[in-house]
Amino acid sequence: MTAPGHGFASLERRGLMFVLSSPSGAGKTTLSRLLIERVAGLKMSVSATTRTKRPGEEDGRDYYFVDHARFQAMTENGELLEWANVFDNCYGTPRAPVEAALADGQDVLFDIDWQGTQQLREKARDDVVSVFILPPSAADLEKRLHTRAQDSDEVIRGRMSRASHEMSHFAEYDYIVINHDIDEAFGEVHSILKAERLKRERRTGLTAFVRDLQKQLER
Ligand code: 5GP
Repeated sequence: MTAPGHGFASLERRGLMFVLSSPSGAGKTTLSRLLIERVAGLKMSVSATTRTKRPGEEDGRDYYFVDHARFQAMTENGELLEWANVFDNCYGTPRAPVEAALADGQDVLFDIDWQGTQQLREKARDDVVSVFILPPSAADLEKRLHTRAQDSDEVIRGRMSRASHEMSHFAEYDYIVINHDIDEAFGEVHSILKAERLKRERRTGLTAFVRDLQKQLER
């Protein structure tokens, strides 16, 4: 597999599955958007969900909005790489686009919960890099959920209590980023991706590249 835009053996590497999880309101959606806008060779995995579309969301861009029957068919036909029940709705990652992107040498970005992250890790441990985003404080998280104002007070209360449960899984993640400031958090998440892309184990063309360097040096 070759990283897009590079023909050098040294830059050949396996694509990675870059997972961002966090309680709702910790800034994960904004971070995902910034990563997709600013980082080359990274493709967003668009999930399927049975939840209702929020204002401003678009089918096929934010989610594939499907009914329960279609979601169940997807799980039964093996069309999903992972799936979970979150806030009484089903969410799952369509398998085909992820496999196509990885085969094309792209990295894939996932905005999924801890249950999905566990399933991905079971399937492809070496290729999963997981980052958990934490809010700087409970008050900050609550403020962000209210500012977003897309959900009713009751839904927000539910999300606050779920946030505490979601956070209890932080120790299952490779990296933790505290989102004090979105630009700083973006810088940290981007650094993680950059470093993981350089990992020796992912760089399949290195042996040939070094052998070639040695041959030239020993001439
Ligand atoms: P929301 O309804 O706010 O868009 O998402 C609720 C939660 O579902 C978020 O924590 C999000 O990460 C998670 N989620 C979204 N898509 C998927 C998916 O495909 N699989 C899993 N396991 N979780 C998902």
